[in-house]
Amino acid sequence: MNCPACTRPLTALFIEDIEVDACHGGCGGLWFDNFELACFDEPHELTAAQELLSVPADLSVEVDYHAKRQCPKCAVPMMRHFCTALRRTQVDACPQCGGNWLDVGELTQLRAEFREKAVRAAAKAKPVINKHLKWFVAED
Ligand SMILES: [Zn+2]
Ligand SMILES: [Zn+2]
Repeated sequence: MNCPACTRPLTALFIEDIEVDACHGGCGGLWFDNFELACFDEPHELTAAQELLSVPADLSVEVDYHAKRQCPKCAVPMMRHFCTALRRTQVDACPQCGGNWLDVGELTQLRAEFREKAVRAAAKAKPVINKHLKWFVAED
């Protein structure tokens, strides 16, 4: 499977037996498929998710963050969508397999957004959070 952002081969990372594909030494992005995300949805799994925040990246790799990406699995165009009520960070999602591509830094941004109490309140009143991304919500 190749990186949808910089086309380098993705590297499988194993976080508590769950395989997450990372662009290790490339652009630093992360690929999650449905099954992988379902395995990160318990609060205690957030600790393991921290390891995904520091994938080694090569800063000289050029990435067009506005280009349409293709799903690395299905080769269909992915859709950009906001994940929280703050509407700051967009991630790529595959309409076919439900996988999500996060560019380097997007996981950190999402976690920061979800930490804001206003977002939580808004999310409670009107759930807008992609169910596959609900594990980013910190339980504190
Ligand atoms: Zn890459
Ligand atoms: Zn797909």
